[in-house]
Amino acid sequence: MKGLKKKLADNMLVLRNSHQSTTVINVKGCPIGGESVVVVAGPCAIENEDLLKETAFKVRGSGAVMLRGGAYKPRTSPYSFQGLGEEGLKILARIGEEMNMPVVTEVMDSEDLDLLCEYTDILQVGARNMQNFSLLKKIGRIDMPVILKRGLAATIEEWLSAAEYILAGGNSQVILCERGVRTAETWTRNTLDLSAVALVKELSHLPVIVDPSHGTGVRSLVAPMARAAVAAGADGIMVEVHPVPERALSDGDQSLTPKGFSKLMKELEPIARAVGRRIY
Ligand code: PEP
Ligand code: MN
Repeated sequence: MKGLKKKLADNMLVLRNSHQSTTVINVKGCPIGGESVVVVAGPCAIENEDLLKETAFKVRGSGAVMLRGGAYKPRTSPYSFQGLGEEGLKILARIGEEMNMPVVTEVMDSEDLDLLCEYTDILQVGARNMQNFSLLKKIGRIDMPVILKRGLAATIEEWLSAAEYILAGGNSQVILCERGVRTAETWTRNTLDLSAVALVKELSHLPVIVDPSHGTGVRSLVAPMARAAVAAGADGIMVEVHPVPERALSDGDQSLTPKGFSKLMKELEPIARAVGRRIY
C-alpha cells in the first residue's frame, strides 16, 4: 500500500506480502480471521459466578461465541474495583467450559502469565500495556492466542510494531483490536478509529477485531459502531454486556444489556452478508 508515511521495514513479520491471505487463528475450533465474523461478549469484569453465568447464558443464546471478562482490571484509580484475581479466573474458566465458549481475559503483569495460561483460551494485552515490551517478549515465547489492543494514543505503526514483538518471539497467534484512541473529543471516552481497521487489514495479514465499548464509552453508540466495524471489514467485535449495567462494578455506562446485545446481533447478520461474510 502507498500510504502517507511508511516507516515499517518491508521484512517485518506483521506485514502482509502480496500473495498472503489473512492469518486464521483457531481458538478451540472457532476461526478468527476467516470468512466469518466472530463475536466476543461479556462483562468488563468478572464480578461473581452468578452474574457471569447469567451473562454468558444470555450472550451465547444471542449468538456470541466467545466470553470475555477481566479478573485483573487496569483501573485509573487504585480505589476502584481491581478484579477478583485468581478466583475470577477460576469462575471464568468454569463458565466457559459449561457454556462451551472459549474465554478471553487480560494479563496485566508478566508475573501472572503462567497462571492466566492455565485458565484462559485467549490472553488480552490491554491498551495500557501495548508498549510493555518485556511483557510482549514473554508472550512471544508462549503458544497461546493473544488479543493486542491498540494503545491509548498509539499510532498504527506503534501498534503493528508491538505486534511484531510477539511475532518475533515465535508466537504467531496475534489478533489486533482497535479500541479507540484519545483525541480532543470529550463527548466520547475515546475516538474509535475505523479507518485503522481498513488500513491495518491492508498492511497486515493478522485478524483485526473492534471493541466499540471502550471505543466510545457510551452505551447508545456501541451498536452503531459495532455495525460500522463489521461494514468496515473487521474480523470480529468484542462487546461489554452486563445484566444490570447501572450496578456494574466497572464500565456500566458502556455496557449493553442482554436485550440490547440480542438486538445488535440481529442487525449484524445482514451487514456481514452485505460485505460477503457471515456471523460465525
Ligand atoms: C478491557 O477490555 O477490559 C479493557 C480494559 O480495555 P482497554 O485495555 O482497551 O482499555
Ligand atoms: Mn471495560
